[in-house]
Amino acid sequence: MIQEQMLKYYIETWGCQMNEEDSEKLAGMLKNIGYTATLRREDASIIIFNTCCVRENAELKVYGNLGALKKLKEKNPELVIAVCGCMMQQKGMAEEIIKRFPYVDIVFGTHNAYKFPEYLNRVKQENVSVKEIMDKETEIVEGVPIERKSDSKAFVTIMYGCNNFCTYCVVPYVRGRERSRKPEDIENEIIDLVNKGYKEITLLGQNVNSYGKELEPFVSFADLLRRIDKIEGLERIRFMTSHPKDLSEDVISAIKEGTKLCEQIHLPVQSGSTRILSKMNRKYSREDYLALIKKIKNELPGVALTTDIIVGFPGETEEDFEDTISLVKEVGFDSAFTFIYSRRKYTPADRMEDQIDDSVKHERFNRLIEVVNEISAEKNKEYENKVVEILVEGESKNDSSKLTGRTRTGKLVNFVGRKENIGKLVDVKITKAHSFSLLGEEVK
Ligand code: SAH
Ligand code: SF4
Repeated sequence: MIQEQMLKYYIETWGCQMNEEDSEKLAGMLKNIGYTATLRREDASIIIFNTCCVRENAELKVYGNLGALKKLKEKNPELVIAVCGCMMQQKGMAEEIIKRFPYVDIVFGTHNAYKFPEYLNRVKQENVSVKEIMDKETEIVEGVPIERKSDSKAFVTIMYGCNNFCTYCVVPYVRGRERSRKPEDIENEIIDLVNKGYKEITLLGQNVNSYGKELEPFVSFADLLRRIDKIEGLERIRFMTSHPKDLSEDVISAIKEGTKLCEQIHLPVQSGSTRILSKMNRKYSREDYLALIKKIKNELPGVALTTDIIVGFPGETEEDFEDTISLVKEVGFDSAFTFIYSRRKYTPADRMEDQIDDSVKHERFNRLIEVVNEISAEKNKEYENKVVEILVEGESKNDSSKLTGRTRTGKLVNFVGRKENIGKLVDVKITKAHSFSLLGEEVK
């Protein structure tokens, strides 16, 4: 019994898909040394918090959750607590965590996660706590074991880091400069996934369109997409995130020509005001963005477009905000992740003097969400009575009599269907559209 308890891990992940993938690697390393997953912190002998620092809220959640672990550690002094991820890469943060939460055993960053088993070993063998943060990114480490959450779809990171330095964003400081994986390493990982039964992959990077720039010989993102599109047995390819300044015509052509590349593009606009975009250092104007959208819609009919938007960036006037609202309406996004601007230490925007009042930010945020949701609902309505291809992911979370999956365009569909089709592609007729999901029935 005790032995069983000693071998359970619990991982909590905040933030983006890249963090999710890093957590799957931590899980893979733990599985290799005999651990199994638990969904209950009380049952775990090791708890890992993989943190995010893109917005202040994400950090506050980590503090709250770490505080709550004190009691568990008192009850079970053998419990190992580890904190890692982007938040730890910030100057002074690792020290702060250890000072405020002295019962934390291991602190590490984004560049040295592959060394986690070594840290764990030291804690266990030498009974010491370990703190190691690498300021500089290392060479890409291949071959780290990975324990994926889904059996049908997987994330595959193709590049690490970011060189863009948008003025609000902390990512380039905590994830380092751009580094691309070799195309053959990516291909081999995907072939291996297909052999294990995976049908869909999402290629990940902070700006996938700058993939391959530093590789010898040079391989463009469009080249990579074409290579992956040829992998037999793979059904769907998605990618994120695309920076509008870098999404090339060649990539659009690759999607058009490809059979597996899904008709869905996540293209964060951040703001509809050219003045604010320039203050954000995004390197495109409102007009550039709209021209790109027009091109995408022309070339890829039926494409679903999603985006990220920040409200309340320093200096944003009512007029700038109205520009964002009008752009959202003009594009007609299928969905949008909307964020209230959050001040991040060491970023240029944090030093801008014209910070916006919280009340104004919230008021604009609410107005924006209303418009975004209304358009999402309209877009979903277009699916009613249509038959769409769904990759069946499993039982629906809220209603186990239904199955759940997504369309090629990324829409979440809950539907009546046969359980033996989990992990497969099926045709589903959409019977009803809601704002955030669709309802349907499998077509027999
Ligand atoms: N590399 C991706 C996204 C990185 S972070 C890209 O360039 O699009 C994900 C999203 O978080 C961003 O697109 C942005 O909308 C939001 N974000 C980043 N920093 C933020 C901040 N300081 N305040 C509020 N939102 C922020
Ligand atoms: Fe952040 Fe901009 Fe890089 Fe995206 S492109 S990670 S928003 S700096």
